[in-house]
Amino acid sequence: MDKRFDHKKVEKEIYEMWERGDYFKPRNLDSNKKPFTILLPPPNASGKMHIGNVLMIAIEDLMVRWHRMKGDPTLWVPGTDHAGFETQITFERKLKKEGKSRFNYDRKTLYQMIWDFVQKNRGEIESQIKQMGASVDWSRYTFTLDDKVIKTVYDTFEKMYQDGLIYRDNYIVNYCPKCGTTFADLEIKHVERKDPLYYVRYPLLHRQKGDPEYLVVATVRPETIMVDTHLAVNPKDEKNSKWIGKKVRNPLTDEEMEILGDRFVDPEFGTGIVKLTPAHDKHDWEVGLKHNLPVRSMLDMNGKLTAVAGEFAGLKVKPAREAIAKKLERKGLIEKVDYDYEHSVSVCYKGGHDIEPMVLPNWFVKVDPLKKPAHEAVKNGQVKIFPKWQEITYHRWMEEMRDWPISRQVVWGIRIPVWYKISDQNKRIRVVFKNQADEVVSGEVGKLLEEYSIKEIKSGLQSLIAPKEAEFIISRKDPGDDYLPETDTFDTWFSSGQWPLVTLGYPDGKDFKYFYPTSVLETGWEIIRFWVSRMIMFGIYLTGKPPFEYVYLHGLVRARDGRKMSKSLGNIINPEEYMDKYGVDALRMGLISGTANGKDFRFPHDKVVAYRNFANKIWNMTRFMQIMFEQWNKPVPFYNQEIVNRLTNEDKQVLKALEETVKEVEVDLEKFKFAQAGEKIYHFLWDEVANFYIERVKERKDKEVALSVLRHTFINGIKLLHPFMPFVTEAVWKQIPGIFNPPYSEKALIISSWPNERVNQVH
Ligand SMILES: [Zn+2]
Repeated sequence: MDKRFDHKKVEKEIYEMWERGDYFKPRNLDSNKKPFTILLPPPNASGKMHIGNVLMIAIEDLMVRWHRMKGDPTLWVPGTDHAGFETQITFERKLKKEGKSRFNYDRKTLYQMIWDFVQKNRGEIESQIKQMGASVDWSRYTFTLDDKVIKTVYDTFEKMYQDGLIYRDNYIVNYCPKCGTTFADLEIKHVERKDPLYYVRYPLLHRQKGDPEYLVVATVRPETIMVDTHLAVNPKDEKNSKWIGKKVRNPLTDEEMEILGDRFVDPEFGTGIVKLTPAHDKHDWEVGLKHNLPVRSMLDMNGKLTAVAGEFAGLKVKPAREAIAKKLERKGLIEKVDYDYEHSVSVCYKGGHDIEPMVLPNWFVKVDPLKKPAHEAVKNGQVKIFPKWQEITYHRWMEEMRDWPISRQVVWGIRIPVWYKISDQNKRIRVVFKNQADEVVSGEVGKLLEEYSIKEIKSGLQSLIAPKEAEFIISRKDPGDDYLPETDTFDTWFSSGQWPLVTLGYPDGKDFKYFYPTSVLETGWEIIRFWVSRMIMFGIYLTGKPPFEYVYLHGLVRARDGRKMSKSLGNIINPEEYMDKYGVDALRMGLISGTANGKDFRFPHDKVVAYRNFANKIWNMTRFMQIMFEQWNKPVPFYNQEIVNRLTNEDKQVLKALEETVKEVEVDLEKFKFAQAGEKIYHFLWDEVANFYIERVKERKDKEVALSVLRHTFINGIKLLHPFMPFVTEAVWKQIPGIFNPPYSEKALIISSWPNERVNQVH
């Protein structure tokens, strides 16, 4: 036995030994046994592990190893996610370095290139999952773009369409012209910024005696004035309510605009009079729906002003804003400008670009019929959330959740299986494509067909936007030469929301029949809305059963300074460094110690160091025992009745401590109290066995009793510790056949039996 514990030497060797032994496959499959199943929340296939992933794997591996040792048929399915948007952005960054962009390629070519890029990079994340000791069943590995996943996603989409749960509608979306795609509300960030606040004069019409010449409206976005439809005031606002029903002139277009009353207007903001631009503002859109206002847009998909803008057409938003402010100034229609106005701006979470609220046709899922049973399932305890206080987040989300826009304007994803026939009805479909001369062309299909064939448009197609009323058919295959494909892909949560179904082979796979519903869904609390809620909705909708019994949400790991980790703060913790320096076991156990109350926590650096020392301690204890057994040099009977008859008080004390630890750990683990369980095992092994008992063994005359008790308690302690620190415990176990004889020489610790409350009983 080596003098020192060398984690680097041991980790790889042991993981390979487990794989060779096929120990990660479910065993004891029996229709009368309740299986234990976990699905790995799929990390980004071309990404790298971050510290949160390590925590996730540590907790899941812990539960899986515990159940496996208890003899439950145990399955942990691994997989990776295509991470649609994120991956496409990474890939486009790479293109940019090569002096190219996505507009150099048609859709199909771009997709293939990203596919190759991901295939080339996916090895890294897989080897990191292995490095962390995850005992996942690799034979069931799933990638979110596997054929089986696409098939299920298409089946679901068709079923939902037939059930009337899918529809198309215009919708105000958070659109980022730089990224060329829309973002969900949860994907945008709000930043504080200083911008000029313009006080713009709207000439008042049909003035009566005492009326001012203008009504003044404060806005940071004068470029949208040209598509204002109304002004609005709060009917309870004493100063301004008298304007309801009156008219003003649009300062840019001279059109007449009516003033309406709505309680959403904040009388304290600006002058208490606001402009309504339903096409370019979320609030205004809502008010527009209520009052049935027209929706007029002035921006195109590249973030430039359209022909509607007249002399300003072709300008981007910011230059347009300045030009328009100048024009208003010249017309004498700017009352004043507050240059120090601080306000909250929505930016995309990816690049921090300004979001432009825009109205686009979108594919929607009607959520009401889906969310009711999903909400109910948590209320009535069919799905139990740990820690319990996180249930509030779930309930609140279920109450707030509205119809779900599921289309994304990125290539890298599962294409929505819809086709548009190029008929008279569909001539207003807009396309962007590369023609045979390699130029990017865009416009309405009806017009473009005068110059190009459908075939040319189709083969060079980059993107397509069909008006809300366009006719379409759902088909997995190309229905014919005169059809153009929808180019939107599904929101990634639409496919990962079906993760429990696709990984287990819904509807008739063997795994699905045996392992569904799964046992625990473990993930970070921040995706309870995005992911957990959707899995419950899809699971109940398709199978009648929620996809899991428990949800365990871990807190997020913060940097050592307590702040959120970020590149700009330079406080990101690289798991590789820690695994290298302190070992996987120490990092896993250290992170688990941070989960005690389920809240976000600082990266517990000192604990990682302490558990590195603990790993060394375990190794040294084993060596010490080996030496004692060798010195004694006589057979030591296994813990049996004859030994029990000769126990001293100190033997009884350590045995009692073992029994209590076993019982308490079981209770903790059942309640998802991982940190507490780990702490108890640590104290048992370090305080009771190492500090208290081993010291006494040295002086004992009845060595065979003492050694037998020591062996018994140590081995059971190691078993308890295994799910937390799998490598050092398995490494020690490998030494045990050299020290001890059967029946303790179970083949590998990973498949040995879990100690239960009868741990000290002899037969
Ligand atoms: Zn962006």
